[in-house]
Amino acid sequence: MTKYHCPYCSPRYQIHIERADGVMVCGQCGDRLIKVPFIKPTQIFALVTASAFITPLIVMIFIFVQDQNKIHPKRTLLPMALMQIPLSRS
Ligand SMILES: [Zn+2]
Repeated sequence: MTKYHCPYCSPRYQIHIERADGVMVCGQCGDRLIKVPFIKPTQIFALVTASAFITPLIVMIFIFVQDQNKIHPKRTLLPMALMQIPLSRS
């Protein structure tokens, strides 16, 4: 579905009329209506720009959640001197 708009009239008060030959005209001024594309190139550019800023944040959150789910081995609190005592007695 393509949208039409009249560049000369206010967007609030636009009446679209289709003539007998199939051309869409404005009901107020009688000029031809301009087709408005469904997705504008500026919207695509804005989407690419926004994703460039948001993607690192999403990746960082994903890696953080993955790191939280891993089981980290407990570090021994004994100093190296206590661990070597049994070796010197024997
Ligand atoms: Zn118009």
